[in-house]
Amino acid sequence: MHYKFELIPLPYAYGALEPHIDEKTMRLHHDAHLKTYVDNLNGTLSPHPELYGWTLEQLICYAGFLPEGIRMAVEHNAGGVYNHNFFFENMSPEKSGDNLTAPQSKLLSKINYTYGGLETLKKLFKTEALAVFGSGYTWLTADAEGNLKLLSTANQETPIKQNLRPILCIDVWEHGYYLKHYNKRADYIDDWFNVINWENAKKNYDEKNKALK
Ligand code: MN
Repeated sequence: MHYKFELIPLPYAYGALEPHIDEKTMRLHHDAHLKTYVDNLNGTLSPHPELYGWTLEQLICYAGFLPEGIRMAVEHNAGGVYNHNFFFENMSPEKSGDNLTAPQSKLLSKINYTYGGLETLKKLFKTEALAVFGSGYTWLTADAEGNLKLLSTANQETPIKQNLRPILCIDVWEHGYYLKHYNKRADYIDDWFNVINWENAKKNYDEKNKALK
C-alpha cells in the first residue's frame, strides 16, 4: 500500500460489534477520524512524487529520511492510518476466542509461557491500557525472536518503529469509546475483549518471519 492511500472499508458492518462497541462510534471512528488521517497523509505527500512509492510502513520507519518540512505531518498521519487499519482489522463480531485454544496455536503457547495464561494477559493488558495518559494505544507485540511484549504508544506512535510486530491493539483515544462508555475506559476495555479477532492475532504472530518494512 502506497500513495495514493485509500480509506479501507471495515471488514464488517458498522453495527456488527454491538453491543460491545456501538454503531455510531464505529461510523465516526472510521468515516471521520480515519478518513481525516488518510486525506491529510495524501495531502502532505501530494507535492512529493519522489515519495509516491513508499509504503505506509516505510513512511513510518524511515521518517528520518523525509524532507524536514513534512516529516512530522507524515509521521503523525501515516501512524494514524496504520494504527487505525490495524485496530479495525483486529476486531470481529465473531467470538473467535475458542480458536485460540486450538492445539496448533503458537500464540496461545507463547501467552501461556510468558504470562501463565490468557486471563493473566488480559489483566495485564487492561492495567497497561488504563495507564495510558491522554491519547494512545496499547499493544501486544512480538520481537524478532517471537517473544511477547506488552506496551503502549502515545498519540499515533507505532511499535513497528521499535522493530516490534503488532499482534493486537486497542485504541484508547476517547473518540474510540466516549459516546457509549463516556469516561469509563475500563468498561470499554472489557467490552473490547469480547470482539478481539483472535484468528487475526494468531496469523499476526505466525507471520513472525515476515519483514516489517
Ligand atoms: Mn482512533
